[in-house]
Parts: sequence; C-alpha cells; structure tokens
Amino acid sequence: MKKAKFAVGYGSICGGCDVAFTDVGTKLADLAEIAEIVYWPAVVDGKIERLEEVSNIDVGVYFGAVRTDEHETVLRLLEEKSAILVAFGTCSCYGGIPGLGNVETSESLLATAYSNAPNTRAEGVPSLEEITIEELKMPKLRDYTSSPADLVEFDVFVPGCPPPVQSVIDLIDFVKDYRENGNVPDAFFLAKEGTVCEYCEREKPDKISIEKVMRVHESDLDEDECFLSQGVLCLGPVTRAGCGEEPRCTSKNMPCRGCFGPTPKIRDQGTKFLSSIASSIMLGKEKQISEEELMRLLTEGIIDPVGLFYRFALPVAIINRKHQEK
Ligand code: SF4
Ligand code: SF4
Ligand code: SF4
Repeated sequence: MKKAKFAVGYGSICGGCDVAFTDVGTKLADLAEIAEIVYWPAVVDGKIERLEEVSNIDVGVYFGAVRTDEHETVLRLLEEKSAILVAFGTCSCYGGIPGLGNVETSESLLATAYSNAPNTRAEGVPSLEEITIEELKMPKLRDYTSSPADLVEFDVFVPGCPPPVQSVIDLIDFVKDYRENGNVPDAFFLAKEGTVCEYCEREKPDKISIEKVMRVHESDLDEDECFLSQGVLCLGPVTRAGCGEEPRCTSKNMPCRGCFGPTPKIRDQGTKFLSSIASSIMLGKEKQISEEELMRLLTEGIIDPVGLFYRFALPVAIINRKHQEK
C-alpha cells in the first residue's frame, strides 16, 4: 500500500507543537511507516518553494496562528493541496498565545521587539525597508493575528497548548485509518464535549462563593478542594476537556488556564468566565456590593486580565472581532 503524503506547515509558533510530536517516542516510527513526510520545516524542508512544488497531500497539518502574510500563504497552500486539513495546537484552533498581540498595533509590536530593542549598533537598527538583501525578504506583518480556523475550513481540530501525547497518538492512528479506509471526518475535535470541571476530581461545592480573588502563591492551597472555592481562578468551567483522563493541570495542583479553548456550548470563553466569576463574588451579597466594590475585588487579584481571560482564544473572542470591524 502506498504511503500517505503528510505535510506540516507553520504559522506563528513557539516550537511546542513540534516537541509534542517527539514526545510520543517510538510511536513516531509508526508515522514514518505509513506516511511520507513531504514538507515539515523542522524535519525535512522549510522552503516555501518546496510546498509549492508538492501535490496531492493526503494529510496537511497546520501549527500556529496567522500573523504574517507568509503564514497565510502556507495555510492556503496546505488547504489547496490537502485532502484532509488538520488544525494542530490551540494557536491553530483559536489563535492561541500569539493572538494576545492583538491588544497592540503591529507598528507598536515591531517597535518593541525590533526598532527599540537593545542592540549593539550605535546608529540603531536599520528600518525594515532599508534591508534590501535580495534573498532576505521579510514577511509582512498583518494588521492583527487571525485564528487559522477563521480563514480556512479544517477537517480535524487538535486543541491543546501543546496537545497532549494521546492526541498525537490518536492523530497518527487517524492518518493510518485514512490511508487504509479513506475515512474523511467533518470538523472532528480530538477532545471531549464537556468541561474540564466534569473530569476534575477536586471536591467542589454546589455553589461557589468567592470572598477574595487570590493568586496561586498567595493561597495556602488544599490539594483536594476546587480552586475556585479557595478563591484561585481556574478556567475549568469554561474549558473543553480532553487534556487527560484527569485534567493535566488540576491533577498537578495548578488551576486550568483554558488551553483547550471553549466547549462547543460556549460562544466566548473569556466573557463567559468573567461573568461567572462576577456571579460567584456577588453570591449572597447582591444588596451590599456596589459596582465599584465588585471591580475592586476583581482587579485586586488579577494582574493581567486579558492574559487570564483570553490567554488562548483572543482572536476568536467577540471583543476582538468587534475591534477589527471598526
Ligand atoms: S499551541 Fe502552544 S505549543 Fe503549539 S505552537 Fe502554539 S503556543 Fe506553541
Ligand atoms: S473550577 Fe477548576 S478546580 Fe474547580 S472543579 Fe473546575 S476544574 Fe476543578
Ligand atoms: S487543565 Fe486546562 S490548561 Fe491545563 S492542559 Fe488541561 S485544558 Fe489545558
């Protein structure tokens, strides 16, 4: 039987999704047995010309968010050439951590990371326009980061930052099944339908009342009790389960940060969480608490609200879409 053609293209990434593949160990040998890797910058070749040349890709996998025009070109080439397109990692499913750059303009990001960054040239760094080496074409920053899933239609979604080992194993088995039986899924998620809370074994009360919002290091945590009932913010109620039989973070005494993105029933992960936290703070004290007091209680323990509520899904949040429409 012919090997399946397998390609991986990059958007804005941190490298963690590549590491997730190497974490499966000898299972990678199964992939090598059933698939011919025709494009994958970390493994075979990363020149975009190579991706332009290949045809009839069976499974195309995209890592990362879309920040530059080149990221978009790679995504669209993969879409055009692949029978099955896979969004791998939370950046690819929802925009992920690179999406937090949307709180700034592309000009201010460039100024912070490039023009104004410390350097060893007395005269400062050249502007990007001044760099004229023919072979060195800098990709153009788009005005904002997009979730790839907003630009093309994916057949399979593999959330997680990075996705767990089991998801990579399931994806390899899925490539095997496609090669043997030709099964093409429809917007299939390698995740569960319910919330992280449904799989968390910490004791949780029926109703959660929060007196004071605290950070992990400020609290003397009971390892068996729900984080929220101890005042430590945990995004389990608004996050899709699937990172492990028991959630990866809560089982290791850390709150869930929301990396699997929202559940299918939740339209906006950050807004939903913010409103449920406000209700927990208000519980039983609707008459005594003013709007100012509520804001004080919320902001006191939250140093970086956007990073907490929208860490993994800002590009698909309602607040971000409204901003881009302006
Ligand atoms: S999903 Fe997470 S691990 Fe994967 S590229 Fe994005 S930031 Fe890195
Ligand atoms: S809020 Fe967090 S700690 Fe509490 S039950 Fe849900 S996942 Fe577990
Ligand atoms: S517990 Fe939450 S943040 Fe941690 S891996 Fe699971 S979904 Fe991601």
